[in-house]
Amino acid sequence: MTDPAPEASAIAASLAAIHARIAEAAATVPRDPAGVTLVAVAKTFPAEAVAAALAAGQRQFGENRVQEGMAKYPSFRAQYPDLVLHLIGPLQTNKVKQAVAHFDVIHTLDRPKLAEELAREFEKSGRRLPCFVQVNTGEEDQKAGCSPAEADAFIALCRDDLKLPVAGLMCIPPADEEPAPHFALLNKIAKRNGLGQLSMGMSGDFETAVMLGATHVRVGSAIFGGRSYPPAG
Ligand SMILES: *Cc1c(COP(=O)(O)O)cnc(C)c1O
Repeated sequence: MTDPAPEASAIAASLAAIHARIAEAAATVPRDPAGVTLVAVAKTFPAEAVAAALAAGQRQFGENRVQEGMAKYPSFRAQYPDLVLHLIGPLQTNKVKQAVAHFDVIHTLDRPKLAEELAREFEKSGRRLPCFVQVNTGEEDQKAGCSPAEADAFIALCRDDLKLPVAGLMCIPPADEEPAPHFALLNKIAKRNGLGQLSMGMSGDFETAVMLGATHVRVGSAIFGGRSYPPAG
């Protein structure tokens, strides 16, 4: 399940180009581009691709499988103590312990059972990872995330009852729809719940997301190239 790593110089150039595009999109609002964190999604690419991005100054990475994150990043932690690893894929409750041990941020908190398991593991491990509640803004049957109608109640359960550190909201708009209304809806749900962070925008739509308030854009193929393996979830 590994794609060939592009040349290190190509990765550095792509990262610079994406930062420039984020800054341009931010300028149209206007907002400070420093408020947008670029999460480099390295799934299916080998550790040498991560090494090239680290050498180019990138520190925030995203993986959608717990196992892949566990395999790829530990060796970089000593040299890059400011490396931040985001889990952006579906999290099964039987992987919570490993996810909490190896990741720094969870973007896919989407159901009560998972919230309870995370609360238990945070208590046990002493590691309390910031969490994004994933909202299924397109109400797609096959997609993870709580429905927009359930979002307020689910956020309250996570934050008030289980005392989880909920940082914000995350969404993945339907592939065949205009993303802007989905980003706007996520922003609206976050605002009415007093949440400041929005994880939204991928290679094809991160500029739109920045214009609509994204604080975290999750960009993969625009940095590392196309993937030959479909991502899980
Ligand atoms: C793969 C993935 C991304 C990155 O997608 P690209 O289109 O390659 O930028 C972002 N978010 C999630 C949840 C993903 O699984």
